[in-house]
Amino acid sequence: MTTFEHVMLGMNGAIAAGLTRRCGWPVAAVAGLAAAAPDWDGLTLLFSSSAFAAGHRLWGHNVLACVLVGTLIGLIDCRWAVLPRMAYWLGQMLRIEGAASLAQNSRPVDGRRCSLWILVAIIATFSHLLADMLVSGTATLADWEVSLFWPWSRRGWVFPLVPWGDPGMTIVFVVGLFALVRWRPHAQRVSLLTLLTLAAYMLIRGFLC
Ligand SMILES: [Zn+2]
Repeated sequence: MTTFEHVMLGMNGAIAAGLTRRCGWPVAAVAGLAAAAPDWDGLTLLFSSSAFAAGHRLWGHNVLACVLVGTLIGLIDCRWAVLPRMAYWLGQMLRIEGAASLAQNSRPVDGRRCSLWILVAIIATFSHLLADMLVSGTATLADWEVSLFWPWSRRGWVFPLVPWGDPGMTIVFVVGLFALVRWRPHAQRVSLLTLLTLAAYMLIRGFLC
C-alpha cells in the first residue's frame, strides 16, 4: 500500500471501532501515523544505499519493530499530545474556523488513556504488516515477503491479492474521505463501510480478476 492508503487504513480502523466517539479525533491521528510508521526503514536511503538494501522493508516490517515503534508513538503522543498540538498550530496558521477546539485536545491524557493510545498504535502498525502481505508485487516486480519474526527468523509471508500501486484502493479511500467530511455525525458507519468496501474489492481483485 502507499503511505496515504496505510494512513487511511489506520484512521478508518480507529473510527470504525468507535474510538473517536469516546476519545476524540486524536486517537484516529495516532492510528494513522502508526499505520504508516513501519515504512521508516525506507529512510535508510538517506544514510547509504547499502543500509537501504539491507534494511528496507525489513527493519521496520516485523512484529518486534512494530511493538517498539507503536509503543513509542503512543507514549510520545500521550505524554506531549504532539499531533493535536501540530493540528492546532496548523489550524491557527491557516485561520481555520474552530481551531481553538483543537487546543482542547492538546491536553495530556491520563494513564488509562495512555495505555489505549499505545495499544491502538501497536495494532495500527500491525495493520501495516497485514496490508503489505496482501498488497504486493507489480507487473514487473515479484511479490515481496514480510519477515514477521525478524531478527529471529528470515522466513517471509505474503498473500498477494492486489498489486502494489493499484488505483482501486486509493479510490475507495478517497471516496470514503469525502463521505466522512460530508456525513461527520455518521463517521463510524462511513468508516466501517469504507473498510468493508476495501475488503470486498481486495477479495474480488485477488480471486476473480
Ligand atoms: Zn511497508
